[in-house]
Amino acid sequence: MKDGLSWPKAGAYFRRAMMLRCPVCGQTPLFPSLRRTRTLHDWFTPLDGCPRCGYAYDREPGYFLLSIWAINYGFAALLGLVLYLVFEWFFDWPVWILIASVVGPVVLFNMLFVRHSKAIFIAWDHFFDPHEREGGDDGGNVSPPPSPVPGHPPRKARIPADAGV
Ligand SMILES: [Zn+2]
Repeated sequence: MKDGLSWPKAGAYFRRAMMLRCPVCGQTPLFPSLRRTRTLHDWFTPLDGCPRCGYAYDREPGYFLLSIWAINYGFAALLGLVLYLVFEWFFDWPVWILIASVVGPVVLFNMLFVRHSKAIFIAWDHFFDPHEREGGDDGGNVSPPPSPVPGHPPRKARIPADAGV
């Protein structure tokens, strides 16, 4: 294993993910509390970052695509497969009841598991690619380079026209 990768660390990050907490400090929630969740957007969207340690939860646009496609849909597909096999094996239902009995729980599972999918993905990413600054685990925040001209903000990085973004 690479330096810094260890089973105890992986276990700690996984536990924090299961509790929907920041992978770095393990204290701050990743999502708004249930009392503050008023819309589906609140339910699905993590906070910008950890106010305690400064770790950015959403590193870039599209960051959580893999968490949805691989983790959320993957587990939902497994659940659907198991439910289908169990229902098909033990019951002699018409096909439309069989489909409804599998699709209903799978959709519900997708909705309920989405926060954990994202939390697992954040923990996984932090484990394998911690984005640490020299000198310690600061949560992945990298401050911009100092301005060459005092009193003026630093220049933003330019994206070349042919970058295909
Ligand atoms: Zn934190």
